[in-house]
Amino acid sequence: IVIAPAQLQQQQIALTSQQQHYLTRVLRLRQGDRFIAMDGKGQWWLAVLAETTAQILEQMQVQTELPVEITLMVALPKGNGFDEVVRACTELGVNCFAPVTSDRTLLHPSPQKLDRWRRIAIEAAEQSERQIVPTILDPVPFSTGLLSVTGDRKYICVARGNSPHLFTSLQSIPPSPPSKGGLQDSLPALSGELDSSHPPLQENSSPPSQGNSSPPLQGGLGGSIVIATGAEGGWTTNEVENAIAAGFQPVSLGKRILRAVTAPIVAVSQISAIIEM
Ligand code: SAM
Repeated sequence: IVIAPAQLQQQQIALTSQQQHYLTRVLRLRQGDRFIAMDGKGQWWLAVLAETTAQILEQMQVQTELPVEITLMVALPKGNGFDEVVRACTELGVNCFAPVTSDRTLLHPSPQKLDRWRRIAIEAAEQSERQIVPTILDPVPFSTGLLSVTGDRKYICVARGNSPHLFTSLQSIPPSPPSKGGLQDSLPALSGELDSSHPPLQENSSPPSQGNSSPPLQGGLGGSIVIATGAEGGWTTNEVENAIAAGFQPVSLGKRILRAVTAPIVAVSQISAIIEM
């Protein structure tokens, strides 16, 4: 669960009712069970559940983040579509969500939506055992987002035309060297309640990343990637041209037209698959 960094300085943490609910009702933990407390900025601690409190046992060395920072720029889909994008793409490893309004965006979000997306990102980061909680930027017009977003490689997904496939574009980058460090799969043994598919803990791993600054690997797919996807109506020709002028490479996700909610999830799955291959 995500715990405020100030609380993590103490040995005994008073759990909020929400945290108690998540631990005892969702994860079905009982007193004495161990769980991960994270500060959402890269640090993990092993904690043990008492009644309404938790005791911090020790700091853990972990690496569950992708070695590449992914910024996902999404022209907001209608309705609650972006909720689904935030949830799935947090699980997949996105570091930063940059929601934008484009010429064909129907949704103009309220501040309440932003709070909701941030809550969803926390839940998804807890569920997927991320080290960090992704940042969700305030929505801006696409033209502003294009100029403010930074990345070593920038792609814009275009549903029609003959752009190269994202997968091909990513594969043309030389592969990253294999990650090093011995593996130790001790956490599930510490608590029978935790999913046995938990990613292995790394011994002697480098210190966890701080905030959104996971260290880039040397060469290959290290560094940072920005990927942009359009709303239901897609991008206008003008928007694609502006993106290309801002250094974005147009890419395809295949021959079928994906929903505005599906496209970002597919794009990020492809990036994370190639990175972790
Ligand atoms: N009516 C739009 C058009 O013809 O361009 C389709 C928009 S699609 C529902 C929403 C967004 O998902 C697109 O703007 C694009 O970013 C992305 N997308 C969907 N299918 C895609 C594909 N096969 N290749 C690349 N991007 C795709």
